[in-house]
Amino acid sequence: MPHIAVIGGGPAGLRAAEILAEAGHGVTVFDQKPSFGRKFLMAGRGGLNLTHSEPAPDFLKKYGAAETLMARAFERFSPKDLVEWCHGMGLKTFVGTSGRVYPETMKASPLLRAWLKRLDGLGVRFCPRHRWQGWEGDALVFQTSTGEAVRFTPDATLIALGGASWPHLGSDGQWANIFGKADIALSPFRPANCGFLVSWSEIFRTKHAGEPLKPVTLSFAGNEKRGEVMITEKGVEGSLIYAFGAALRDAIEAKGKADITLDLRPDLSQEALLKRLSAPRGSQSFSNFLRKASGLSPLALSLLREGQKDLPLDPEVLAARIKAMPLALTGTAPLARAISTAGGVRLDAVDDHLMLKARPGVFVAGEMLDWEAPTGGYLLQGCFSTAAIAAEGIKAFLAPA
Ligand SMILES: Cc1cc2nc3c(=O)[nH]c(=O)nc-3n(C[C@H](O)[C@H](O)[C@H](O)COP(=O)(O)OP(=O)(O)OC[C@H]3O[C@@H](n4cnc5c(N)ncnc54)[C@H](O)[C@@H]3O)c2cc1C
Repeated sequence: MPHIAVIGGGPAGLRAAEILAEAGHGVTVFDQKPSFGRKFLMAGRGGLNLTHSEPAPDFLKKYGAAETLMARAFERFSPKDLVEWCHGMGLKTFVGTSGRVYPETMKASPLLRAWLKRLDGLGVRFCPRHRWQGWEGDALVFQTSTGEAVRFTPDATLIALGGASWPHLGSDGQWANIFGKADIALSPFRPANCGFLVSWSEIFRTKHAGEPLKPVTLSFAGNEKRGEVMITEKGVEGSLIYAFGAALRDAIEAKGKADITLDLRPDLSQEALLKRLSAPRGSQSFSNFLRKASGLSPLALSLLREGQKDLPLDPEVLAARIKAMPLALTGTAPLARAISTAGGVRLDAVDDHLMLKARPGVFVAGEMLDWEAPTGGYLLQGCFSTAAIAAEGIKAFLAPA
């Protein structure tokens, strides 16, 4: 049988290896790290959000410009297939209140263990500590951790090297140099699902970094969404921020900042809030009165005061500010700390099977392709589904004419 090299032992590479080995192909998985699936394990630290339970049209919209690619990818491996695959590994899943799907264990390690065992049973060979360095003619060249150069000429190659965030976990984005030299069109890497910078005062930063602001409704560019914003040393992050991430990042790139507004009291109408704030204060200090009448948390009250010497005493102005608190985001947090990477191999550099047009027989999958999505299970689903397209593409490529 033909032999296939899979370079990159993250979820995309492992899923492709599984499909190909199940089809009876010989498969060798190479990774530069001593063990496989390190970012997958890290994803498990936050609960391992595998996929989402929402209907396909809503789901696919989350991929923006890559919606058409993902629609094809879902035909190969849908969110339902991913859930069933997880069950097939002996792990039950559940749907959280937000519609996100998790394994019951909430961790990646039991799933990864079962997966590697299955791959082993299918005869997949593993070559950890093999850093891919490029091509020499048709041969793939690897450097082992002892400095030895290893050459391997497979019948087809699947490359799934991930993005460029959290580089210490293996996906360091250095493959872009190899692809650049091979004239494969790339979009520049940019942080996705990243934090954003805010010029907090020293007092605010010291007191509130690490605290969640909830519930709030965030509005930006005509869209609004309710959720939770995490205050960090340097700004803000969290799933609500990530949901607007691409638009915020693009606005900052274009204008140097993104002005968002936060409704700090989303459960109360402005009229109801105004009524409460217009009640007689009696002998209470203004701070005490504001706290009780507004029902705001200490963090929300601090935020209201942030960047303002004195709060407006006029109830109307105050109510309006609580319902639409402006906040300027002045930059993106570094790519190395982003949950995922936008940019990578351009979609016009691959054919419908995700084969590189510039290198027949070489396919790409996962986060290294130029697509992005918010957190919510969309990232892993995209990796699994694109891996399925590429693996099926390899099967067709190797099939006798
Ligand atoms: C903190 C955190 C939490 C996350 N949580 C979630 C979540 O809950 N749900 C979700 O959907 N997504 C989550 N993600 C994102 C998800 O983990 C990634 O999108 C996914 O792992 C990407 O899979 P991949 O196979 O494309 O690449 P990766 O998982 O990045 O794997 C790429 C592999 O390629 C190897 N490699 C790179 N360069 C070379 C080279 N030159 N030679 C050999 N090997 C190389 C790396 O060592 C690595 O093992 C999270 C990410 C982070 C950082």
